[in-house]
Amino acid sequence: MKYFDTHAHYNDEKFKDNLDNVLEECKSVGVDKIVNIGYNTESSKKAIEMCDTYDYMYAAIGIHPSDVGKCTPQEIEEIYNNAKNKEKIVAIGEIGLDYYWVKDNKEAQIELFKEQIKLANKLKLPIAVHSRDASLDTYKVLKECPAKYGTLLHCFSPTDDLVRLVLENGYMVAFGGNITYNRAKSFATYMDMIPVSQIVIETDSPYLPPANLRGTVNTSKNLPIILEKLAEYKKMPVEELSKIVYRNSLEFFNIKE
Ligand SMILES: [Zn+2]
Repeated sequence: MKYFDTHAHYNDEKFKDNLDNVLEECKSVGVDKIVNIGYNTESSKKAIEMCDTYDYMYAAIGIHPSDVGKCTPQEIEEIYNNAKNKEKIVAIGEIGLDYYWVKDNKEAQIELFKEQIKLANKLKLPIAVHSRDASLDTYKVLKECPAKYGTLLHCFSPTDDLVRLVLENGYMVAFGGNITYNRAKSFATYMDMIPVSQIVIETDSPYLPPANLRGTVNTSKNLPIILEKLAEYKKMPVEELSKIVYRNSLEFFNIKE
């Protein structure tokens, strides 16, 4: 089986000493494509650079809501314009809203989110969205300022608002290690409602390891665990599901094989 990690951070400091070993392990379980996601200017540049070294890697560039005020969308646009390998930049992300850590800068987060959606539309790229404890505002921003070339809700944790948004607008959702957590009761309720054509998988490496691996550095080699859990929820053979989510990923990021 082939696996496509739609959201990983191999541009993270954590991997600076052992990246090649980690990637060898990922390849050995069938990981075939990876999108490295930027979260500020530095990590976005790094994600682009890595595409030159690893032909199976792609980059998303953007500013995470936690970095609001530290980088500007103009800098992200410049990074795009200066990139020699523009065809490997497949999305603007991760962008969005995070009210879990900081709640007193909601306005600034919303503004940054909107500006980056506009940038994605200008560059004709889809967006990879981070939303934590902010589902209602995420819903509002995406309604008011829609991304024209595709929207992927990463580390999807369903709520009534977000599932309604996904179904109404045909957004893609990415499930990661969070679907293996015990407290993930709501997944069972919502999973039936989301068509398989709108689902991809991810790790959010090095974060969010599957339940039985908590406390370890998460890598794309754990994608089979996530896919298996998804297959259980969707009551589908793993092999059939793997082909569908792989194809969905290629289509979303507009990658030709
Ligand atoms: Zn992430």
